[in-house]
Amino acid sequence: MPLPIGHSLISAGVYAAYKGSIDIRQDFKEIALFVFMGLLPDVDFITVPFTGFGAHRGVTHSFAFAFAAATIVFAIARTLSRRVPARLWGFLFLTAALHPVCDFFTYDYLVERGGVELFYPFSLKYYQSPYPLFSGIELRYLNTIFSLHTLMAVVREAFISGTVFVAVLYLKGARVKTGYWLVCEKNDGFK
Ligand SMILES: [Zn+2]
Repeated sequence: MPLPIGHSLISAGVYAAYKGSIDIRQDFKEIALFVFMGLLPDVDFITVPFTGFGAHRGVTHSFAFAFAAATIVFAIARTLSRRVPARLWGFLFLTAALHPVCDFFTYDYLVERGGVELFYPFSLKYYQSPYPLFSGIELRYLNTIFSLHTLMAVVREAFISGTVFVAVLYLKGARVKTGYWLVCEKNDGFK
């Protein structure tokens, strides 16, 4: 996915599946943790000024990285609170793993390589879907970043990931509380 908005919405959807409800005020820390996990693979952007975009979507965009990150974050959470359920690990892994999967379905302008290193360390190959769902953004040049194409890519990404998020809420009959109003009541469908 080109931007954090899509990864954040997908991560919030996984959180809704995990918790069965979203109370933005009360569960702020847990929601933030899931969004953090969903954005973590893009930590490799830090190296871009030194290595160029060629190193982006490498090791940190693999299932192995998602496994390791979920294990470390879960271990820290368990150390902080014994009440953390074991199934949290699976949802953290899913959140981190969905990031490279979404990037796999994004058109990559690095045509000389393209895609994500999904199966590192078992394979160093970069994989990209021949049928992209999301429009990529050419991030190497300012005039392509600030363009109508970028705006349309953001709208498309928000629409697709927003639909996934709402679908999860609906399927789970999830209750969403913003702290001020109830968006959706459990087992009651939308209001
Ligand atoms: Zn990414």
